[in-house]
Amino acid sequence: MSRNRRAKIVATLGPASSSPEMIRKLYDAGVDMFRLNFSHGTHEDHRARYEAIRAVEREVGTPIAILQDLQGPKIRLGPLEGGKRELTNGSTVRFVCSATAKGNDLPLPHKEVFDAVVPGNQLLIDDGKVRLSATDVGTGYIDAKVISGGIVSDRKGVNLPDTVLALSPITDKDRVDLAFGLELGVDWVAFSFVQRASDLIEAHTLVGGRAGVMSKIEKPAAMSVIEDIVALSDSIMVARGDLGVEIPPEDVPGAQKDLVRLCRLAGKPVIIATQMLESMIHTPTPTRAESSDVATAIYDGSDAVMLSAESASGQFPVQAVETMDRIIRRTEQHKAYRNIIEALHPEVEPLPQHAISAAAAEVAKSIGAACIVAFTSSGTTAYRIARQRPPTPILSVTPNESTARQLAWLWGSTSIRSDEISSYDEMVSHAVQNAKSSGLASDGDCIVVVAGVPFGKSGSTNNLRVVTV
Ligand code: PGA
Ligand code: MN
Repeated sequence: MSRNRRAKIVATLGPASSSPEMIRKLYDAGVDMFRLNFSHGTHEDHRARYEAIRAVEREVGTPIAILQDLQGPKIRLGPLEGGKRELTNGSTVRFVCSATAKGNDLPLPHKEVFDAVVPGNQLLIDDGKVRLSATDVGTGYIDAKVISGGIVSDRKGVNLPDTVLALSPITDKDRVDLAFGLELGVDWVAFSFVQRASDLIEAHTLVGGRAGVMSKIEKPAAMSVIEDIVALSDSIMVARGDLGVEIPPEDVPGAQKDLVRLCRLAGKPVIIATQMLESMIHTPTPTRAESSDVATAIYDGSDAVMLSAESASGQFPVQAVETMDRIIRRTEQHKAYRNIIEALHPEVEPLPQHAISAAAAEVAKSIGAACIVAFTSSGTTAYRIARQRPPTPILSVTPNESTARQLAWLWGSTSIRSDEISSYDEMVSHAVQNAKSSGLASDGDCIVVVAGVPFGKSGSTNNLRVVTV
């Protein structure tokens, strides 16, 4: 089923949205990928959600993507005596490397932090509300001066924007969760707080091709090697929550633009995440600024926009999805939208698979084709065509269920499962049949068909054909 929009919607499931009926409603309202947030909930909670999504998928007969989001090394204070403490401007406090602390010390049970922080590094508590700067570091302690004070309480998060932690961002908990998620059959795995290219190599080794690898960009260290990280990731999430703590909020819009641009040029799908419709946690309508924020992501050409607490724990999960759906469709209909999208031209690498994909988009536009049918086993042909952001809808036809699901949140693409093709005749007849059954083409329409010969060999895109339905 095509939803009549190009950009896609990702919604996080949580206590407000986990019944099978609610998951069905969210799908109907427009969700293309569901996010299972492993920072919260038990394995059994996630299993139940997974099963409910797959049940909806069977009912509607459309592939649905499921994203497992791993917590990563989220650094938190330990419990405080009395539950909270006020830190006053200009005072000095001591962080200690232990699960609990006495007197005025603040417990920070993360040894890797004590190994990596040097004087001058910032420590930001509770989404940056309280800011400190390290003045002295010794065995098992960090002394820090309070730059911007306030009340801190038990288990608040700590961000370290200037510190590159020596450890892999994949924690023991993540490893256990990942094994569980892959066993369930998630389509994408998101790795939090990646910092280096080597983190991605480790991620790929652990995932072993059983799901797509998504990097969450939320550390300044990742931004400084972003080309390598994008090249080594299958997709990217612009994780504005933590990113906006680690870099100044005024730098987030530029970082978002840079990331979307890089991903579009590389043909890697990209999600804009966090606080998109934040006020809808408590109210049934968005603020004008939120509506504008979602639209900006769409004008930039992002593949998807994401809901976090709005759909996981808010009071209006369905309305939040409906609101996103309306904003996306309205923005894509705006008369300036095409010009804005087309301002970015990916450079086409001098290789047949890239040239054919770009040509398919061009031909489809010139002849006013009803859709582009991409035969793809791993999805690469579909990614290459989508990178061109053609005005023509893309129908990604694949024999692999996992590919069909992974492609569910690709810009402009509708995916469908179909038998393996083995000849030109089958290519044409399957293309026509699928274009019609998906509702993207009807008798008399022209369609553009792209495939790789020999059929079924991944990455061999070398064939372009125009067919009249
Ligand atoms: P999180 O990631 O919600 O898992 O922290 C998203 C973000 O940081 O924006
Ligand atoms: Mn985050």
